[in-house]
Amino acid sequence: RCPRTHGHLMERGRLRRLAGLAVGARRLATRAAISPAVRLPGALQRSHFSHSLGGTRRLRQFANSNVAAPPITRDVRNGSAVFLSAGGVVPGSLRGFHGGWMLRSDGDGMGEGDPEGGVAPGEDKGGEELFGDGDNVAAVFEGDQETGSQLVSRDNDWMPAEVIVIPVFRRPIFPGIATPIALTNPDFCEAILKLKSSTGSYPLVGIFMTKQPTREEGTPITSTEDLHQIGCLGQVVYIHGVQQLGVQLLVAGAGRILITGTVRTDPFLTVSIQKCKDKPFDPTDKMIKAWVLQIISTMKSVVKLEHSFKEQLQTALTQVDVNNPSLLADITASMTTADRDSLQNVLNTLDVQDRLSQALRLLTIELDQAELQKSIHKQMEDSVSKMQRKHFLTEQLKIIKKELGLEKDDKEELIQALTAKLAELNAPPAAEKVITEQLKKMSMLEPSSPEFNITRTYLDWLVSIPWGVSTDENFDVKKAAKVLDKDHYGMKDVKDRILEFIAVGKLKKSVQGRIICFVGPPGVGKTSIGQSVASSLNRKFYRFSVGGMTDVAEIKGHRRTYVGAMPGKAVQALKSVGCNNPVIMLDEIDKVGKGYQGDPASAMLEMLDPAQNAEFLDHYLDVPIDLSHVLFICTANSLDTIPGPLKDRMEVIQVSGYTAEDKLHIAKTHLWPAARAEAGIKGSQVSISQDALRQLISKYCREPGVRNLQKQVAKLLRKAAYLIATGEKDKLSIGMSNLTTYSGPPVFPTDRIYERTPPGVVMGLAWSSMGGTSLYIEAAVVAESEGGKGSMRSTGQMGDVMKESSEISLSVAKRVLRDLAGKEGGGGGGFPG
Ligand code: ADP
Repeated sequence: RCPRTHGHLMERGRLRRLAGLAVGARRLATRAAISPAVRLPGALQRSHFSHSLGGTRRLRQFANSNVAAPPITRDVRNGSAVFLSAGGVVPGSLRGFHGGWMLRSDGDGMGEGDPEGGVAPGEDKGGEELFGDGDNVAAVFEGDQETGSQLVSRDNDWMPAEVIVIPVFRRPIFPGIATPIALTNPDFCEAILKLKSSTGSYPLVGIFMTKQPTREEGTPITSTEDLHQIGCLGQVVYIHGVQQLGVQLLVAGAGRILITGTVRTDPFLTVSIQKCKDKPFDPTDKMIKAWVLQIISTMKSVVKLEHSFKEQLQTALTQVDVNNPSLLADITASMTTADRDSLQNVLNTLDVQDRLSQALRLLTIELDQAELQKSIHKQMEDSVSKMQRKHFLTEQLKIIKKELGLEKDDKEELIQALTAKLAELNAPPAAEKVITEQLKKMSMLEPSSPEFNITRTYLDWLVSIPWGVSTDENFDVKKAAKVLDKDHYGMKDVKDRILEFIAVGKLKKSVQGRIICFVGPPGVGKTSIGQSVASSLNRKFYRFSVGGMTDVAEIKGHRRTYVGAMPGKAVQALKSVGCNNPVIMLDEIDKVGKGYQGDPASAMLEMLDPAQNAEFLDHYLDVPIDLSHVLFICTANSLDTIPGPLKDRMEVIQVSGYTAEDKLHIAKTHLWPAARAEAGIKGSQVSISQDALRQLISKYCREPGVRNLQKQVAKLLRKAAYLIATGEKDKLSIGMSNLTTYSGPPVFPTDRIYERTPPGVVMGLAWSSMGGTSLYIEAAVVAESEGGKGSMRSTGQMGDVMKESSEISLSVAKRVLRDLAGKEGGGGGGFPG
């Protein structure tokens, strides 16, 4: 690093000594290839050149070439970099030294100097190399009025008469700024390269911005009409690349030029130009100074906000010559991200004060944008950091809580929750003991172990049993009678029994569990009355079917050692209803199966028997539970198949089938309104005549229950709903005349085959647990000549009872005939055979 001041550098001897360092730095820079990370004060650079170019002659040559090394700063926003003029900062004494170029690169990579203290002969390739590989650099330079060198100075009146045009599309190039330009057209590249070889090292070109921001691919700009008339004379200070692949130029803006005419358009547009001079102004003018100061202060504000701008602007602030407001305006404008037209306007402006004001406007926009950007950035940062902070704090809180023992891990939390639940429970001592033991066991188990989960599930069951929880019962007999009557017509026996039950409970002030069994054919309302009983007693209702049940475990639960073990139905029922006095209905108790896994009937007895079930022991739960408050209601179609011990303990209530008259009532008061509501039909929309209902009962559903009748009614109403929904009918009434339209032809056409039964035919009655029916029994005498054999043959599917009956009737008939024959023929008559 060479932290020398420029003043010092004036001492010749020292200058030389420093040259070694400079070369070292340059070498490093060359090795780094791109934007050499070297920071050299301009004067140092000069000394380096003097050394590396080998003597005074070359030094002069270089000095004459006015190549000063401006500081490089990278403008990350528009992809270019800016070399700022050294003019403003180079100490006066140095300026005397031809006031030439300074090349200074930006960065921190300056080494401690060349260990060899110099540069190897032939290694240096002259000033050009200082641009490294020309990576995005631009230069601001200050001209030399006396030399008339190839490099054109801003203030130099020397101008070429004509220049080849390099059109730019995005933004114009400003005097004093060096900008990289990429050329892709190989012919054009060649032209520029040729220009370089023919004119010497630094060819001059005219850089003009096109009027249109884009152009069609492959169409070259051939007319000055397409270009803004004021552009910038550019000096190609560096060329890099291969002609075929395109080249990169570093073009230093040398001064404003105006197109005065077209010289030729082929092969490339070449124009005649004229220098545009700034309007004369007084640099000491107060207004101008004020503008300059304002620009500088705005720049300072931008620097504070816009970090990407920072180095560039900071350098500008230190380097810019406040005495050259024209240059300041150009630099300021070129550093902004303003649109192409605004920039071109600045370029077009020859009045310096006006230009300053425009530049300030653009810079102020930049400031606004930077402020906006900063506020957005801050908002984002705030929201992100808020989240991070929250996360961080919660993590911290967790750790602190753990340290203080305030927060436990999941297992402990679970144990705590279960312990809290246990405290709320009114569990009997036996259950409480088991729960406490299990909790202790769980606290010692690893949460990941299978045993832990088994224990956890077991505990869940244990604490979810409604130990000692019961619902308030209804002891109001009248109210209960009302509820029962509302839901069901008839069923007097059932209703009476339930009301008696309530009455006893009222007097005793407590009710003990009972087993009631409704026996009757299907569809007579056994199940549905069970529900009504529950609601009349104000108890919860739970129902399950035991038909076909063969496994004892379904009643008594599995042992916990089984995988997927579950408690039995009784425990499940209690958990589900959440109280210990529900009505539990066991459907189809007459159809309990008998399997190889024990006898469910005996398990059921254990569950149902009021004498035993106060201490019902479920295999899974393994703690006795009290089922004595449960009202068990069983349903069965037949008493015969109910296991004896179970039957003994039940209060059997026969629910017989309904007569046609009963059915009519039920249909009218219950089935029809319920089905109508189900179909979404209003009472005013559909009606049915009593006769039609009777017909429906006698000709369509003859079973003892009303389930079929219910289906028929629902069918009628479904059809009615269709007609109403499709708009075919508004309302309809169903009568005898149109019944078949809705319900189809009768299933049982008629009752009677004979109006009067002929001899040998009697009306009989068949009955089973599923109901009964009338039937004709016919007897016919067959003569021996017709195949009769003196015996009786019976046809049809007859059971033993029927067979026996027919045998009896035969012997009765024989006796009657014999007696008749005896009376008529003195005992000689015989059986007709
Ligand atoms: P079961 O259990 O005897 O086979 P359900 O209880 O399932 O019969 O009854 C079948 C349908 O008949 C139920 O919708 C029920 O409401 C109705 N039902 C049966 N008997 C009556 C009745 N006496 N009054 C009103 N509806 C009844």
